[in-house]
Amino acid sequence: MKTITIAKGDGIGPEIMDATLHILKASKAKLSFEEIEIGEQSYLKGQSSGISPEAWASIRKNKVLLKAPITTPQGGGYKSLNVTMRKALGLYANVRPCTSLHPFISTKHPDMDVVIVRENEEDLYAGIEHQQTQDVVQCLKLVSRPGCEKIIRYAFEYARNFQRKKVSCFSKDNIMKQTDGLFHQIFKEVSSEYPDIESEHYIVDIGAALLADKPEMFDVIVMPNLYGDILSDIAAQITGSVGLAGSANIGESCAMFEAIHGSAPNLAGKNQANPSGLLMGALQMLTYIGENDVAELIHNAWLVTLERGIHTPDIFHQGKSKQLVGTREFAEAVTQHLGESPKELPKKSYGSNKPFTLPKLKENKPLHKELLGVDVFVDDKDKIPQQVAKRLQKMELPDLTLQMITNRGVMVWPNGFEETFCTNHWRCRFLPKSRKKVDKEEILTLLQNALKNNVDVIKTENLYSFDGKPAFSLGQGQ
Ligand code: NAD
Repeated sequence: MKTITIAKGDGIGPEIMDATLHILKASKAKLSFEEIEIGEQSYLKGQSSGISPEAWASIRKNKVLLKAPITTPQGGGYKSLNVTMRKALGLYANVRPCTSLHPFISTKHPDMDVVIVRENEEDLYAGIEHQQTQDVVQCLKLVSRPGCEKIIRYAFEYARNFQRKKVSCFSKDNIMKQTDGLFHQIFKEVSSEYPDIESEHYIVDIGAALLADKPEMFDVIVMPNLYGDILSDIAAQITGSVGLAGSANIGESCAMFEAIHGSAPNLAGKNQANPSGLLMGALQMLTYIGENDVAELIHNAWLVTLERGIHTPDIFHQGKSKQLVGTREFAEAVTQHLGESPKELPKKSYGSNKPFTLPKLKENKPLHKELLGVDVFVDDKDKIPQQVAKRLQKMELPDLTLQMITNRGVMVWPNGFEETFCTNHWRCRFLPKSRKKVDKEEILTLLQNALKNNVDVIKTENLYSFDGKPAFSLGQGQ
């Protein structure tokens, strides 16, 4: 008997959790449940992250959490509990299978069977944001080599374990050459270790368009966090409803299972929500803890229920839908069909699939890092780049001089167009004229000069090379 932690969440959360537990109990899964309170009630009790120390203790003891969606209060400085949990527990892989159930669930894509493997801890979800000038805010996009390596390797191992043939990678490395560039580069490196699995890369815009139009082209897709978040909702929705897809958040020692959708406050308390998403999350959980036979039993009963046309409002359409039911009645119908197999939809088999562990990350050889210069970010209300440059040149050292100014990434000095719109946020690049390297003391002197000359420095970024390769972006137009 395995004890798992459960959280009923907010909005439709309690209804879909009760429905899911009803099915799990009827299936005789060898589970016992320890309930925690998280989400809105915790936020209102003053836990700014939406979770109490006792709830954390339960999750860390049981290592497996089945979680219904929660509502993140807007504004008021509340952090998203979902993001906090994924990161605090090291749940680096978010696995979201999206499968059509044609002709029983109405969809334009009858042959869709896609698994989205989304990086879960990095990217813009680091949540590091700052206002830097009156007009400009920033969000840091952090991407790490180990983070990319883990998620991409997970996607290939998943493909191997679940008899998938192809892994596609979506990134935007034509624009974000450092961050998405690293993701793509590591995809190329890791894919070469899996010659039995086909691999391909798409720029995320065309990849997303193809996924929405011809999802049957794809098998497993691995993506950085933000693209994966957005595209998995689209993928679930085009199978018929966002209410159909479950999600596993896998880490090295803990795992969390949930529906991909949110707390749908518009449906709360109406007995109308589709519990299938959370149920599919629960089936991923059963396979994770080795109860494949029970997962198979429930999955096939669920398929039979859908084949019989017993549908919740989100998937109820003229034609194949026969009986409009609420959340509770749908769950009861699934329990009534336990032990049956679908007649037209393919019978689901989980075989002896087991959770797999990734090989330990290889230590990478240390790279030689050199400091080449510095980008100084400045708040200056002047609209004329030449005037800004004049003030900045007062900071210069004899051999650390202003080389370029960009505004929102576009070069505006020494060359630029007068048509370019400028904000009060300027990136000013200082490089040595006669040497390849600078030292940190020179940067400190540069900043002292800024202070003396009333230049409002808001931040600096050091410009490095690694093994002789400059590792920073050029200005657009440079
Ligand atoms: P949502 O997913 O809750 O709802 C989007 C739409 O899909 C709504 O029309 C809703 O009625 C419908 N829908 C969602 N789940 C359904 C189901 N099971 N059956 C039938 N229809 C369903 O997205 P939202 O409205 O943008 O977000 C609501 C709240 O949920 C927000 O507070 C958000 O922060 C939170 N949220 C939580 C999670 C999570 O806990 N993992 C994920 C996403 C959003």
